[in-house]
Amino acid sequence: MASFTLHGIPVSRGIAIGRAHLLTPAALDVKHYLVPEEQLEAEVRRLQDAIAQVHRDLQDLWTDLPKDAPTELGAFIDVHALILSDPMISEAPLDIIRTRHYNAEWALVTQIDELSAQFDEIEDPYLRERKADIQQVAERVLKVLMGTAQLTPGKLSEDEYQPQMIVVAHDISPADMLQFRDRSFIGFVTDVGGQNSHTAIVARSLDIPAAVGMSQASQLIEQDDWIIIDGDAGVVVANPSPLVLDQYRMRQAANLKARKKLLKLKKTPAVTRDGTSVRLYANIELPDDCEHALDSGAEGIGLFRSEFLFMGRAGHAHSMPSEDEQFEQYRRSVLAMKGRPVTIRTLDIGADKPLDQTEHTALNPALGLRAIRYCLAEPQIFLTQLRAILRASAYGKVRLLIPMLAHAFEIDQSLAMIEQAKAQLREAGHNFDADIDVGAMIEIPAAALALPMFVKRLDFLSIGTNDLIQYTLAIDRVDYEVAHLYNPLHPAVLQLIAMTIMAGKKAGIDVAVCGEMAGDVKLTRLLLGMGLREFSMHPAQLLSVKQEILNSDLGTITPQTRKILRTMEPQAIAEAVQQLQVI
Ligand code: PEP
Ligand code: MG
Repeated sequence: MASFTLHGIPVSRGIAIGRAHLLTPAALDVKHYLVPEEQLEAEVRRLQDAIAQVHRDLQDLWTDLPKDAPTELGAFIDVHALILSDPMISEAPLDIIRTRHYNAEWALVTQIDELSAQFDEIEDPYLRERKADIQQVAERVLKVLMGTAQLTPGKLSEDEYQPQMIVVAHDISPADMLQFRDRSFIGFVTDVGGQNSHTAIVARSLDIPAAVGMSQASQLIEQDDWIIIDGDAGVVVANPSPLVLDQYRMRQAANLKARKKLLKLKKTPAVTRDGTSVRLYANIELPDDCEHALDSGAEGIGLFRSEFLFMGRAGHAHSMPSEDEQFEQYRRSVLAMKGRPVTIRTLDIGADKPLDQTEHTALNPALGLRAIRYCLAEPQIFLTQLRAILRASAYGKVRLLIPMLAHAFEIDQSLAMIEQAKAQLREAGHNFDADIDVGAMIEIPAAALALPMFVKRLDFLSIGTNDLIQYTLAIDRVDYEVAHLYNPLHPAVLQLIAMTIMAGKKAGIDVAVCGEMAGDVKLTRLLLGMGLREFSMHPAQLLSVKQEILNSDLGTITPQTRKILRTMEPQAIAEAVQQLQVI
């Protein structure tokens, strides 16, 4: 097999070596998990039972056919029953469960995808059309399967676990990415996507090498091809030669060694060489991530992206999580962090984080009814969330963070609604922290240019550099065609960040950076030089950033940074930032 190399955008560091697992859009709609050996036969039976149920359903359809029904209808049911009995449907997926340990839904979809590909090559148009019938039959089985209790994915033993699968797909939504949290996969490659799309962010939070914007990857790479992802360079090598494979294995081993060494810094306080303390917080998507946050030595949660509790709930009758359900999740995080602060950001839905994949999207979602705009338009949803967060504040230190604020009235309305939620809780007899800190994400240029409006009304600020860059440079963070224009070092971006840090300092309120810039070690010194003392990032990046802080001396960095901020030439800025790393 010929070896080839693809270049795209690096989004999650490290090297992954494994076999390609191609996912079609249909395959992405079902759950993916690996089934432990002792549960394999139960999983096989689950699929057999679902197939038997569909047989009975088809039989009932036949019996209930009205006398005057067109004859094609009966023939149609016959065809579906025949397809269902074919070993390609009734046997092959069972083998996939037994040999690859896939759960029933995943096994069925994998088989259907393989069959569909074969049908696409058939010349005869009549036969080619039968592909739709196969898909309809499969959908019937899937519907039954999804209605039946799934086995709880048990723990896999070391040798059952197949840690060599790399997902290759055209695109993966952030909600789909959440499905992969059971770590059945060791890497991700997608044709589209940008460095700071939420899909990329979730891949980073899983701490799995990933590369996006690979344009044709899902067409060029074949199922089970050996591939290497170089997540640092954004390179994918398919069918590597033994020599190339060896080189990457060596780099992989060296990375592992370096990471082990970093673990020694877990309990070391983050203090610069000249004695300045820096707070290092973690970004999380779900309460379970608190464990990683603590493992990495985080002093608290600087950003809990609460919208991930709301996404991908298609099976839940389009419902929102209730107040109690949310409260449980927030409380779980607060308790897990054992007294360390937990900053819960209110629902930031919209743009590349739709509530539901099927919902209508706005004309220009990134500029549409997103985040606080959505929440103020849906006061009941917002109040429910605010009550849940406030209730969790009775169990530890909680901070409330509001995304996408730009207008004074939005801040005032948000604060009024927080007061309203407090009054409702008082009436219902719930405890909460009446003095809860409320902060704003600074992620729209207008906010960074009108800071007095914010510092006057709020307790802290958190700079969302991902959106701040997107909106300052007018480039969609998800669109790989403009990904090359996404530049954190653009002088306009640097000015806005520096202004925000300064304004916070002057007003005596905390300012953090919680966008992806906070976790980029190449930018740690620059941010320190601007005066930043609170960083929030994915747990996987935290110890590398800490190491950089331990080696930094503010006495030399600060004057250099001032010079950088006076520079308007991108090339000079890039060189000076590089220079900062070696002084
Ligand atoms: C940001 O915009 O930088 C941020 C942290 O929020 P999100 O990435 O969730 O939009
Ligand atoms: Mg944002």
